[in-house]
Amino acid sequence: MADIIQLLPDHVANQIAAGEVVQRPASVVKELLENAIDADASSIKLLIKDAGKTLVQVIDNGKGMSTTDARLSFERHATSKIRTAEDLFQLHTKGFRGEALASIAAIAHVELKTKQEVDDVGNTIEIEGSKVVLQEVIVTPNGTSVSVKNLFFNIPARRNFLKSDVVEFRHVVDEFHRVALAHPNISFALYNNGSETFNLPISNFRQRIVNIFGIKTNEKLVPVEEDTEVLKISGFVGKPEFAKKTRGEQYFFVNNRFIKSAYLNHAISSAFDGLLKNGTHPSYFLKLDVDPQTIDINIHPTKTEIKFDDEHTLYALLRSAVKHSLGQFNIAPVLDFDRDPNLDTPYSYKNNNADVPKIEVDRNFNPFQTDSKFLGKQTTVFKPTINNWDSLYIGLESKGNDSTNNFSEAHFESEEQNTSIFENENDIEKLHTTYQIHNKYIVSTIKSGMLVIDQNRAHQRILYEDFLKNITIKEAISQQLLFPLELHFSKKDFEIIKQLKVDLEHTGFVFSNVKYESIEIIGVPVGVPESEVSIILEQLISDVENEVPDSHFSATDLLAKSMAKSLAIKTGQSLKKDEQEHLLNKLFACKEPNVSPTNRITFVTMTVDELDKKFI
Ligand code: ADP
Ligand code: MG
Repeated sequence: MADIIQLLPDHVANQIAAGEVVQRPASVVKELLENAIDADASSIKLLIKDAGKTLVQVIDNGKGMSTTDARLSFERHATSKIRTAEDLFQLHTKGFRGEALASIAAIAHVELKTKQEVDDVGNTIEIEGSKVVLQEVIVTPNGTSVSVKNLFFNIPARRNFLKSDVVEFRHVVDEFHRVALAHPNISFALYNNGSETFNLPISNFRQRIVNIFGIKTNEKLVPVEEDTEVLKISGFVGKPEFAKKTRGEQYFFVNNRFIKSAYLNHAISSAFDGLLKNGTHPSYFLKLDVDPQTIDINIHPTKTEIKFDDEHTLYALLRSAVKHSLGQFNIAPVLDFDRDPNLDTPYSYKNNNADVPKIEVDRNFNPFQTDSKFLGKQTTVFKPTINNWDSLYIGLESKGNDSTNNFSEAHFESEEQNTSIFENENDIEKLHTTYQIHNKYIVSTIKSGMLVIDQNRAHQRILYEDFLKNITIKEAISQQLLFPLELHFSKKDFEIIKQLKVDLEHTGFVFSNVKYESIEIIGVPVGVPESEVSIILEQLISDVENEVPDSHFSATDLLAKSMAKSLAIKTGQSLKKDEQEHLLNKLFACKEPNVSPTNRITFVTMTVDELDKKFI
């Protein structure tokens, strides 16, 4: 039989290799920034267009390349950083595999401009899908500029796989932060679609953190220092009270390289044991310096995972260093053995009955009744809380009506019904008997049997459809705040809010000022309590961050879902009869009453037959 094995042409091999190195624009950002650092640049600029899909450009003032090196740099396994296998264990550079430029050039249009200080002129090279289309001498400043345009132009499937600009830009910024945090001794700037998003001057580590995450971060940081023979630890952890719902601000740098390590993360979490609220994660920015011989960073093409020779010792050292810092700064609770005996109940009082305090109660007082003599005060002082029934009315009977009076008018809009549980009009009549069980489910009878609704999911569905409608028709009603509400965000989070601003406005938010890291809000959607605003926005940011990788991303949809989740009545909340009925009516007036916005069923039914069977 004839021989059938062939060597793959270089450009095909490069495309395959590119798959490992370049998943998205952020991967290009990482590789180019790292090359600039390896070239000893002291100033690095990153320019992004359309979240990097159209352009990623890195300009550095590093050592540049000679004419030959410029051409060679795009060859696979071409590197100036190691020569022998032994060098792998003495790495002091970010790169060493010689793959990045070759991989990137295989799947994009790349333009390189570079000049060394000793030369009078520089070189430019243009490559499209691994093919050199231009190489000539040019006048250009010392250093290197690499532009990567039209990523995945020749692999449409990969290009289509990219997420929305919001999500891709987020990854770009994450990568930028990681590199910038590891190198406070280098100045960095990020320009997004022509406007400056970050400008980070040379500074110390603490200032770099603050410059990235916002001035408010400064007071949250607790220093961690530890110097042992095997490991030097330096950096900061966030005070426990500032722990976040998301894992966003967690950074380990090993020998100035950002790494991910679930194991070391666990060491930090355990140092925080007992100090954090459930579901929150501590922030940390920790630099570990170890002998390069004791680690292996060669295990993954993107080099974000490394293997340590002695992980257990590292774990123990890290945990105790963080614990020590938290203790030193009086953050860990102190065990209180010396209890003040004066605070104990005197023995003679112990068996006495407590007096019932005398309080006068106005039993006729109804906080929901709008009494004209209170009207002036109430509209300003009364702030509805999330538990208020009002929240069910977001975006509904809003045009100046007193919503509390609308219960009796709640009715089915039968033409909007598209559920099969109702057989005829008589079913609807019977719906008016409802019960709430365990402050969680609402039970009602229907002709065929019974109906059990999950109150939280049902309300999420109602709110979600309302928000979507409001965003689409742009007719949401706002309630004005008495005092503007000023909220601070890290720059990262601020960018997300900025991108969602228009949609947020369509739900009823009114912003008076959106400036560097802070947002001033003067109006919120009707029914949204002021005290919940920051939680809603934080939840929204976290939802954008954790957007399920393969789902189709729509900012509008995500916003509606996120707000519905934040504002829906919760399990555990007791509802009055008319509230239960209204929930039911509203649910079945929805377009898709059967499922919550996150596709979970909102109600189940049980027929009389099924019930009968249980009694056999
Ligand atoms: P690696 O970084 O693993 O060596 P790359 O493909 O990223 O591989 O780069 C190949 C080579 O090109 C580097 O080893 C370096 O010599 C040169 N190079 C790349 N970018 C720059 C830059 N910004 N300044 C100077 N030299 C660079
Ligand atoms: Mg490199």
